[in-house]
Amino acid sequence: MFKNPAPPQDLSDENAKSIITPGFAALILQSVLVILYAAFYQTAPGGQNMLFLGIISLLYSSTLLWLLHYSPPNLQKWQNYISIGNGIATAIGLCALPEQINVIPLTSLVIVATITTILWSERQTAFYIGLAFFIHIGYTITIKNGLAWEHILHHGGALALTIVLVVILERLKNSHSTHTNRLQKINAFARQLSSTLEMEEIMPIIGDALSKALEAETYFLATVEGETLQVHMMYDDGKFFSDTSLPLKGSLSSWVIRNRRPLFIPDLRHGVNLEGVQTILTGNNRDNICWMGAPILAEHVTGIIVVASYAPNRFDRNDLELLENLAQQAAIVLDNVFHHTQVTEQARRDSLTGILNHSHIVRTLRQEAEKAQQTGQSLSLVMLDIDYFKQYNDNFGHQAGDEVLIALSRTLQNHLRQQDAVGRWGGEEFTIVLPNTHGRQAGEITERIRETIHTLAIYASNGKVLPFPTISQGVAVFPAETEDVDKLISLADQRLYIAKERGRNQIEPPVSHWDRMSE
Ligand code: GH3
Ligand code: MG
Ligand code: MG
Repeated sequence: MFKNPAPPQDLSDENAKSIITPGFAALILQSVLVILYAAFYQTAPGGQNMLFLGIISLLYSSTLLWLLHYSPPNLQKWQNYISIGNGIATAIGLCALPEQINVIPLTSLVIVATITTILWSERQTAFYIGLAFFIHIGYTITIKNGLAWEHILHHGGALALTIVLVVILERLKNSHSTHTNRLQKINAFARQLSSTLEMEEIMPIIGDALSKALEAETYFLATVEGETLQVHMMYDDGKFFSDTSLPLKGSLSSWVIRNRRPLFIPDLRHGVNLEGVQTILTGNNRDNICWMGAPILAEHVTGIIVVASYAPNRFDRNDLELLENLAQQAAIVLDNVFHHTQVTEQARRDSLTGILNHSHIVRTLRQEAEKAQQTGQSLSLVMLDIDYFKQYNDNFGHQAGDEVLIALSRTLQNHLRQQDAVGRWGGEEFTIVLPNTHGRQAGEITERIRETIHTLAIYASNGKVLPFPTISQGVAVFPAETEDVDKLISLADQRLYIAKERGRNQIEPPVSHWDRMSE
């Protein structure tokens, strides 16, 4: 007859048991009282009926209590039938019990209505109360010949109390379910966030959470970089913006970050009286009026998440709480990203000189060769070796040798462009990858490096100035000389060897070689 209703979302079986059991206990107690009353007043008119009704009511309440504890899914499944049963039972109580103990069915009505609201819904409760009163009023009018005023007042009072209780309970339930929903959203958000350490994946997850949970028209996430806010993700008026920066000074964001506290301004038009804040955040095209910001406070990352709306009072304190939660989750994940990036970066670098290590310079070379192949550009490879370094170590000590390696690495990095890469091949041998560079240009770059090396010096621990060793370099060009990366490496290596053989402190081939070659 009835469709099976959906199971309740926000009340677990355990919760339902603990909240509702006292209600059933009260119903059972009332049944026992009716039985006792009937037992003591056997002689009173209707005494037998009362005893019978009390026993039925005791069995009925106990069955429902049993269902609650041992078969909650059935309690759920049969809610419509149970409500009909409850309505009939209450109506029988109201009709059949003597007026002087009317308080029993009326309090039962309040208890059952409360249980129904908590367990199921307001609609189910209205159905139950409606049924009980319909039967009772029908019975009173037809069988008992009319409603007395005392009757109406009596029952009306109980009904009013029931309605108030039901409305209060329903509102509490709604606020509880909003809270549960929020927690579920935060959990889902935290789960999603913990699945990645890539900044490009994290930002859309945070953006998604902000737009779904807060329905904001404007939001952004930014981290503090010196005096500015580096915006990693920004959404405003239907458009996404990325990698912009905003001035920090005097903004609402700066207040949040400085005070390490969230800030909620329901209506910016009423003015902002905050120390150090001169400007207010405005949207891309229109002014944002409702503004909320929560700080991102982690060990290595400081930042802010802001949401705003063009309508005043769009958010409330609960939204701010949610935003704070999201900011806390974001702080954890951004700190993890920071550590991850640091660890991966460390793994790529040589510990003494800070330049790329052997495996990463090889990887870079292969990647750049692939790019050069696709774009048809030249790529130059330089192998560089310090001359007589063993002797240098022997003469000036290993520590001075290390200083040479560090200073040489720094000089190489200073001489190179953003797209170039320098790595330590091993020992005192270095590799330079020069994308988009012909042999002639590579010859000039290596010559400049060689000359700069001459101007360097090392300061020994005793303050004495030590000379800097010379260097030899071998250059090979991809794809003009070979299209095989391994062959490119051995060609540059062979040329380095030739430079050594020819007397060191030089480059092989010399720049003039490239003039003869058509690259
Ligand atoms: P050549 O001109 O033929 O290259 O002579 P060389 O002495 O530089 O070459 P060799 O291969 O004989 O010696 C390399 C030296 O580099 C040996 C080693 O002591 C030194 N070396 C390698 N790695 C380091 C390091 O990390 N620190 C220091 N101080 N020296 C290193
Ligand atoms: Mg050497
Ligand atoms: Mg060597």
